[in-house]
Amino acid sequence: MNKNIEQILPRVQKPARYVGGEYGQVVKNLADVTVRVALCFPDTYEIGMSNLGCRILYGACNDVPRFWCERVFAPWSDMASEMRGAGIPLYALESGDPVRDFDVVAFSLGYEMCYTTVMDMLDLAGIPLRADERESLTPLVIAGGTCAFNPEPLADFIDLFIVGDGEETNLDVYTLLEAAKAAGQSKRDFLRAAAAIRGVYVPSLYDVSYNADGTIAAITPRDDAPLPVVKRVVSDFNTAYFPVTPVVPSTEIVHDRVSVELTRGCVRGCRFCQAGYAYRPARERDAETLLRQAVDSLKHSGYDEVTLLSLSTSDYTKLLPLCDGLLEWTEPREVSLSLPSLRADNFSMELMERVQRVRKSSLTFAPEAGSQRLRDIINKNVTEDDLISTCRTAFAGGYSAVKLYFMLGLPDETDEDVLAIADLSNKVVAAWRESKRNRQRPLRLTVSTSHFVPKPHTAFQWEPQIEPREYLRRVELLRGALKNRAISYNWHSADTSLIEAVLARGDRRLGRVIERVFRAGGRLEAWDEYFALDRWTDALTAEGLSAAFYAHRERADDEIFPWDVTSTGVTRAFLARERELSKRGTVTPDCRTACSDCGAREICDEGVCNEVRHV
Ligand code: SF4
Repeated sequence: MNKNIEQILPRVQKPARYVGGEYGQVVKNLADVTVRVALCFPDTYEIGMSNLGCRILYGACNDVPRFWCERVFAPWSDMASEMRGAGIPLYALESGDPVRDFDVVAFSLGYEMCYTTVMDMLDLAGIPLRADERESLTPLVIAGGTCAFNPEPLADFIDLFIVGDGEETNLDVYTLLEAAKAAGQSKRDFLRAAAAIRGVYVPSLYDVSYNADGTIAAITPRDDAPLPVVKRVVSDFNTAYFPVTPVVPSTEIVHDRVSVELTRGCVRGCRFCQAGYAYRPARERDAETLLRQAVDSLKHSGYDEVTLLSLSTSDYTKLLPLCDGLLEWTEPREVSLSLPSLRADNFSMELMERVQRVRKSSLTFAPEAGSQRLRDIINKNVTEDDLISTCRTAFAGGYSAVKLYFMLGLPDETDEDVLAIADLSNKVVAAWRESKRNRQRPLRLTVSTSHFVPKPHTAFQWEPQIEPREYLRRVELLRGALKNRAISYNWHSADTSLIEAVLARGDRRLGRVIERVFRAGGRLEAWDEYFALDRWTDALTAEGLSAAFYAHRERADDEIFPWDVTSTGVTRAFLARERELSKRGTVTPDCRTACSDCGAREICDEGVCNEVRHV
């Protein structure tokens, strides 16, 4: 390791974050490598190492002998200032080499509040922030992840975005770059060629003009760039690459376990859920494949927990046989099984028995809204009876801790809907009192609310976000109604949600705002202690923009959106229809009950689209 780095490590918290050398890391001989990739996660080591998407991209790239992918995480503030003080540029963990020397600097974007950390990482690497200031072909700065479905706020900084599933598209880009390097191609010519790869968006090939009221007048592609850029889906999800030799961290991380991915996409169609729409259609892996992947990963890593990941795990059609198969291997070895995203309407005693066999943790459900009226508006097809009977099942099985997640500020929400959250929570407490089991331990019911952020490519993409003071009034209303001592209530910051709403539906003019916030000290803003609303409002004002324009404005039906540069396959007409149905409180069946012709089948007829009745 570089001596300068060694010297500063004793002065920072958790030095294990910065040294690499973990079991399972991939190191290659540079002489055999044609493309070097720095996979950058714009948050801490503990968060990034827990991210399954990053593990997949790392493994898929390193599976190709001539490509070498290394990991880079955002240093915590103590390390960042030590590095700046000592003149140490951002470096990759495997080789310790400066990120600026890599061919590709690839950011994974899962949350809008990481945008200033992207700026910080580029700056710490000594790479110019703006794409037009980087004239040479490498380092090529690319980005993907859920935020790439509205890439526009980062359009000034990123050379190209990967839209949709990344594991195959990334390799196509690296292969093209390999050829471009060998041919001595210019960056401009390379980007023009890259724009022809399905799922690649090159922002510099599009001009955006604005109306006097600040809305977009036109998006104009140049050089035959596609409009929209249609997302990429892996050609066969069941056989798609999965990493069974994960890097095992030497320090504790947030999700310290093996994760397997049961399903990509979701059959449900909750009207607020960006991931639910963006990753349609739902595609499942075979239980045998998953069993093999889980057991191989456990063997290679030594972990004592495996989690079954999906947007809605209990919707996986072969969940019970999969659990049974896994338990045969895990139970004798005292490896526990966890299922993080359960629905309250299909969680059975059979499933609970399997989940709790090795270790009993708390159960988490997300009814999202307290009243049936509002749950119908958002198409969350879960009833109060579902939730209460699920809790009864859990209490009878010995659980004593339940977490419930809700949103405040959903379209058409009234005070009655807010108070219905308290009613529902009190009914859970009553179900606990009626349960015969587990009286030795008290009930712990945690109720959490977040401030609803309307997201692009959803049925609510036209809707205004409620203002922070109104959100806080509803928080207080609910707090006053949650009187039972068994219930603890926490709520998400209104200020952060406001800026998340600005960035989520923002346009490329926000690039200047993001840069200003970074120059004013903004970084690691997904962490409350590093977030400052004033920095954002000052930067917006300085650029002649306002948070209200992006967050609190209802959009016209036919407004051109910044995110119209990308397509999830789900049509705007379908989303508009869903919005109309929501206004009438009419629910839409899930994909397995009946296909509602959302448009996703046009780009991928794999998975659920093949199995359902088309209406
Ligand atoms: S096309 Fe039909 S089945 Fe496929 S994702 Fe859309 S609604 Fe679901």
